Parts: sequence; C-alpha cells; structure tokens
Amino acid sequence: MTVSARNDSPAPPQVLLTHHLRQLKLPTFLREYDKVAAEAAREGLDHPRYLLRLAELELIDRERRMVERRIRAAHFPAVKSFDTFDFTAIPSLNKPLVLELARCEYAVARENIIALGNSGTGKTHASLAFGLAACQRGFSVIFITAAALVHQLMEARDERRLLKLQAQLTTVKLLIIDELGYVPLSQTGAELLFEIFSQRHERGSTIVNSNLPFEEWTTVFGSQRLTGALLDRLTHHVHILELNGESYRLKQSAARRKRGQRPSDEAAQPIDGEIDPAN
Ligand code: ADP
Ligand code: MG
Repeated sequence: MTVSARNDSPAPPQVLLTHHLRQLKLPTFLREYDKVAAEAAREGLDHPRYLLRLAELELIDRERRMVERRIRAAHFPAVKSFDTFDFTAIPSLNKPLVLELARCEYAVARENIIALGNSGTGKTHASLAFGLAACQRGFSVIFITAAALVHQLMEARDERRLLKLQAQLTTVKLLIIDELGYVPLSQTGAELLFEIFSQRHERGSTIVNSNLPFEEWTTVFGSQRLTGALLDRLTHHVHILELNGESYRLKQSAARRKRGQRPSDEAAQPIDGEIDPAN
C-alpha cells in the first residue's frame, strides 16, 4: 500500500528538471543552477538576472564544447598555435601577414594560403596554428597530408563512395593539405586531387604546404596541363607565405648536442605526431 502510494505521487521537481534539462541539452544549466541560485540569493539578484547568468554560462560552455568538437573533427596531428611560434627563427616569413591571416578573414572571403619552403621551417606548425584559429572562430577544418588525401580518395573511389567523400571535402570551410611535393602522385591520384581543388574553388579556403616552388609542381602532378589548371584555381585568391631558411628541427637538435644532451633526452621531447619523410 505504502509502495503504490509512493508510485502515484508526482516525481520531485528536481528529478523532472534534471530530465528536461538533459532532454533540452543544457548540461551547464543543470550542473550550475543550484550553485548560481545560492549566488543569486547572496547577491540579491532577481529572477531574470539569475536566469541570464545561467544562460550565459551555458552559452560559454557550449561554444567551448563546439571548438573542442571542431578540433577533434579536424584530425590535427598536434595542437599548435602561434603563441609557440618563434618568428625570429624564420625571417623570410611575413609576420604581419601571418598575424593578419590568423584572424581568419581569408576564410570568410574563401581565399587560399600557400606556404612554400624547405623542410623543417615551420609550414606544418603554421598551418596547424591557422587551423586552430579557424576552429576557434567557428569554421570547420580538415587537416590531411596530400599523400593521405589521395589515398583516401582512391580508396573511396574503389569502394564506390567517392561522391560522399568529395562532398565532405568540398563543404568543409578550411581544408589544410600538408606535404604536397614529397611524393609524386599517380595520374589518377593527381586527377582526384585536382577535382578537389576545382570543387572547392571559391567555395571554401584551402591551405597547401609544399617544399617545392611552383615551377616544380609538375613533378608532383605529372601533367603540365593539369598543374597549370590547378595553380590557376588555387592562386586565384591566394596569400603566399615563404618559409625559406634553416630547418628549425636541425637547429634544435644541433643546440641540444651542443648542450651535451643525450639522445634519450631528445626522445623525451614532446612528439608532435607528424611524419616527415624528409627525416
Ligand atoms: P615543416 O612542416 O616546414 O617541415 P614543421 O612545422 O614540422 O616544419 O617544424 C618542425 C618542428 O619545428 C616542429 O616541431 C615545429 O613545431 C618546430 N618549429 C618550426 N619552426 C618553428 C618556429 N619558427 N617556432 C617554433 N617552433 C618551430
Ligand atoms: Mg611539415
């Protein structure tokens, strides 16, 4: 009798509120409403101000969660920013232009960035920093090496899901293609990559990192005609960054050797997750 009476009684409001806030996907609201209510009582806040504070907390948290989601979806090999980038190490790089680009106006205007320079000069680092800034500003990002991208396109074609992958690669706001130039592409690979550039033209921004100057891009794409058409699209609205200089990696390991650090110390350095075929 007592049991059924308990079952008939309405659920306590906290239980229902928890359920509704979960359903409405307001986790911060749920987590904070008690604490903020106590604050509001202490500070003498009225109801609208109490609700406003909760809504603001939810918005801030939601934005943070969305940035984290975009970062995960981008598949960055490491999260790097310009805070840890030493501009004095690479005088050929136009610092004011880089800092301007980090504000992401180019992504709004659907312009491209091409970073050219020898190995170890910070191209991957800079593009990761652009990618992170774009995630923070609300743009969707995909980071991938040219070789992996071509591999994925070929695999998707063989498995008859090329259109789906192409649609995904066309709609992402910022596509970062790293390490173009280390591996020559097959004719099919070059054509599939060209199609991506072509489909993205004026629809989204693309960042390309390459160790090769433009004159040598034919060696990657095989055909002069294809390379010409590709460069035509890619460089239509483009910011070119020149990173030519001493390899930062070599300079650092030379400095470590000079300090007498053992190789095991070197192995303890944080791994930045990228594979550089030049090493
Ligand atoms: P690239 O892609 O041009 O071959 P990376 O961006 O991979 O070069 O740089 C190699 C390593 O050196 C990375 O760990 C990177 O973070 C670091 N690095 C390169 N340039 C700089 C710089 N100017 N300031 C700080 N770190 C740098
Ligand atoms: Mg690199």
